[in-house]
This record gives sequence, C-alpha cells and structure tokens, in this order.
Amino acid sequence: MRNLFETFHKHVIHPLWTWKDGEYSAAYVKEFERTQYLSAGEIRDLQFERLRKLIRESYEFCPFYKRRWDEHGFHPDRLKSLDDTHLIPMVSKHDVQRYADEMIRTDKTKDDLVRNMTGGSTGEPVVFYMDPERVTTRAASTIRHNRWAGVDVCTLKATVWGHPRDIRTLGEDLWDAFREKWIYRNVFLDTSSLDERKMMDFFETLNREKPGAFITYANSMYLFARFMEDRNLRFDYTPTSIISTAEILEDSRRAEIERIIGCPIYNRYGSRETSVIASECDRHDGMHVNAEALLLETVKDGKQVAPGELGEVVITDLLNYGMPLIRYRIRDVGTPVAGVCGCGRGLPRIKLSGGRVTDFLVTPSGKIVSGASMTIFLTANAPNVQRMQLYQARPEQVEFRIVKGDGYASETDDYIRREARKYLGDEVEAVLKFVDEIEQPASGKLLYCISEVSPFL
Ligand SMILES: [Zn+2]
Repeated sequence: MRNLFETFHKHVIHPLWTWKDGEYSAAYVKEFERTQYLSAGEIRDLQFERLRKLIRESYEFCPFYKRRWDEHGFHPDRLKSLDDTHLIPMVSKHDVQRYADEMIRTDKTKDDLVRNMTGGSTGEPVVFYMDPERVTTRAASTIRHNRWAGVDVCTLKATVWGHPRDIRTLGEDLWDAFREKWIYRNVFLDTSSLDERKMMDFFETLNREKPGAFITYANSMYLFARFMEDRNLRFDYTPTSIISTAEILEDSRRAEIERIIGCPIYNRYGSRETSVIASECDRHDGMHVNAEALLLETVKDGKQVAPGELGEVVITDLLNYGMPLIRYRIRDVGTPVAGVCGCGRGLPRIKLSGGRVTDFLVTPSGKIVSGASMTIFLTANAPNVQRMQLYQARPEQVEFRIVKGDGYASETDDYIRREARKYLGDEVEAVLKFVDEIEQPASGKLLYCISEVSPFL
C-alpha cells in the first residue's frame, strides 16, 4: 500500500503540486542527474562558462561589483580560465549585510526576486535575494542529492531540527497538517528544547509514521539515538538513511547513531545562502560538491589549497543572477579530496573536518587545531562533563568552559589538561573555567569553539 502511494506521489502528486507553484524542477533534476556523470574536466568547463557569464553581467548590472572590482583593478576580461578566480575580490557576510541593495541588478527590483535570510548562527542574519528560477534549481539540487541517499520526493522524511523558525507553522489547521505529510512528505520534530517526555513522543510518532529518512542536525540525532539506547527502544522497521547536516559529526558518534537507528548516515553540507553545497554518495568518502550550481574554492592566503590541505571555503552561486553572490566567504573550513570517486560521478569532493572559521585554534608556533573536533572528543570522553566550549583570545591560552555533570571530580581536570597538551602542545596554557551553562545561538547550531585568532579569520 505504501509503495503504491509513493509511486503515485512521485509521478502524479509531486509534479502537479510543483507545477501549480511554477516550480518545474523535474527538468532540472533530469539535467543534474546527467551532468553529475560528466568528467571532472567537463564539469570545470561548464562552471567556467557559467562563471564568465555571471561575472560579465554582474559587472554590467550590479553597482556593488562594478565599484568593488574597479577598486581592486579586476575586470571581467582578465578571467581566462577557472584558475584566474583568485583575481576576483572576495565578499564577506558583512559586505552582504551592508551592500545587499547594490548587489541586486539594476534591471530588477526586490519585488522581482525571492527574499531569504540566514538563521544568524554566527551573529547578525544575512538577508539576500534570488531569482524565482533559482528557487526551482535549488529544489532540484536537493532532490538530486537526496537521491544519493536513497531518498526521493515521495519518501516520508522525519526532519529532526533544532530551529523552530525553520519549521513551517503547523497550527490546528487540518489542511496544513495534511499538506505537510501527504504532499511535502515531512514529519517535523522540533528539538530546540528536548526533554524526556518530548523524546518519548518523538519515538512514538516515528514508530507510527515510519519515515524512510531522517534529515537531522547531527547532535540532535545523537541525543535522540542515545535516548533510545538508554531505554532499550528500537523501531519496528528499518529506515533507509539519515541525512545529517549543519554540524560536525564525530566518527564514533556517527557509528553509534548508525548502530542504534540501523541505517547509514549521509553527511550533508548546506547553507541558507546557497542551499545544498555538498553531500556524500554511497561511498561515504568525502562530499560531492553541487558543482553545476556552485563554484566552491578552498583557499588559504588567497590561493586554492592542494588536496588534503585545510582552506577557507569560498562560494560562488553560478545560477543566481538577481543578486549574485560571487566568491562569498561563508566562514567554513574544508579540505579538497583528490581523485575520482568510486561512484563514477565527476563532481569534485570536499571534506569538512573541522567546521567554521572560528572553530580553529592556533598555537604560538602556528599549528592549526580544530577546536570543534576537540570539544566533541572531550565532551564524549572526559568523565562527567555535560557540555564544553573552547574560547581563544590569544595564541598562548585556551579557555575550557565546562558545565559539570553529576560526579565531576578532579580526575576530569587532569584528563582535560592532559588531552589539551596532546592537541595543543606545551606552549598553550589550558585554563579551566566552570560555568552553569553555555549560551547557544537561536539557530540551534552548537558553538563548540570561538577563536578570535583563527588562522582563517
Ligand atoms: Zn561518489
């Protein structure tokens, strides 16, 4: 019965519904499914063609880019290949906050475009605009990347999310609830505040609705899996996959979630500004970039880093002409992966081993350490630590902000200092500071580490 409905949904309900909204995503999905198997070289050619057109039009129509590029001596004619992208000045979140109006093309108004904004997890939200067409291509990219995880438009998805604002309002309106479940194929679970009762409700809802896929914040999913394990709860069915996004997932936690829920995790990297940026295929060896839509560079000291090296992620949206985002510093750090993936897709790959720009600590001698990974490791392994956050104001010192769990003892102090020395060496002093709670941004993304001296800042 379920399979029959899913087939009907995929071939009838979804196409009709999106057609009604003017989103003809099917054609784009088909195209993306074709181009993902082009060779790496062919994909770069496609990117260059799109980039060149975007750069020309932005110079002609967007006052911000014209002025900024003139100031930096960059002219579109200088762009001869993708290797020349470093000539184009980068754009910060602050630029977008300040100059958004001048980034919009002069032949468009805000009314012609679709407004969106970031959740503001790293400070002020960023408001941006896109072509209505871009809404459709973004949806198409998401459909393609979901399919890599065996998840289609018709698959019922449990969205385990830590941010109430992202959850479509589900009031008493029966039509809302119907539409959400039978058309969008979503069951939303809000994890912005979790307690015993809520988790039990989640479990019961999930076991009743039997969603094929989970789309989750990594750590919300981890908490939920732990809850199931502690109470010996198991689903009566086997889900297909978990798409884990928005946060770093430590390997041991990943394995634990997979064991408890009983299906593989597919890591996903996305942002509000650009939608899906990259995600894992079934080989789970790095994430394939959504490269037909986005040019992703990984830079350090202004240059693309070699595979295996850490660099700051810089993104150009190749398909949004209404308010172009060109070489946008999204404040994440990643590592390009060398070679061709076993799945045969030519899309380049990236690993996000560490997280955001401010997640990186730096020692006086210049060693770079992922503070986020360190926090996750210590929270999992140090005895009786409830939560932790690292703060670095200068290279010689790192503050460990700790919320003690029950039974916290001085052995834990020693353990943390010992591990800190392993990660950071002798030249960094570890200062332990005990706090009642660690303030978290409204977005629900956890801030593991705040470094004011990150090498990528
Ligand atoms: Zn692959």
